[in-house]
Amino acid sequence: MYKLPELPYGYDSLQPTVSEITMRTHHDKHHKAYVDVANTLVVEKGLADKTMEELVAYAKATTGEQKLFNQSGQSWNHAFFWESMTPDFKAPEGDLAKAIDSAFGSLADLKTKFVAEGVGHFASGWVWLVSDGGTLKVISTHDADTALVHGVTPILVCDLWEHAYYLDYKNLRKDFLEKWFDGVANWAFAAKQLAGDTYKYPAPVDEAKAA
Ligand code: MN
Repeated sequence: MYKLPELPYGYDSLQPTVSEITMRTHHDKHHKAYVDVANTLVVEKGLADKTMEELVAYAKATTGEQKLFNQSGQSWNHAFFWESMTPDFKAPEGDLAKAIDSAFGSLADLKTKFVAEGVGHFASGWVWLVSDGGTLKVISTHDADTALVHGVTPILVCDLWEHAYYLDYKNLRKDFLEKWFDGVANWAFAAKQLAGDTYKYPAPVDEAKAA
């Protein structure tokens, strides 16, 4: 069974950029529901030994597994999203800073591109900073789709679903994205992804063996 990953900080730690009530609802209700349904589906289908990364790839590649893809993709995307934020904001440094400058010109130019991609994305989804063979790019994916299955390395993600910002920003997605980028984006985590120390969802626990 897959665990719901704990937040790597307190529910109130990202205030004022993201409120405690948003974090509690988002993690304890939305993310938990995706993980719970993914668990029900893998038990039904006898897939419970796969890592979450393997499950997402399997569901993507298999006809008729859209529901499994949606639930596993959302489980993974949210886990990566929690890590993509930090209460200890620190600007990009070293190789990451160089890669940003080389791909976009500057961090400010990346912000413009990231926010525009997020604002321009119709309806629900995710805006990503990814590495395409070492070159940084900004992309967005729809609904539960994940950069994991697009042949690129996810570096950082922000949730564009309304539940991510509506309580705090109402319909002002642009305001949310700008404050997110300047306030809580986790560049230390991004640097690890770029360096090849890539995020892995917690391994599934065999309840029968654990009992
Ligand atoms: Mn979400």
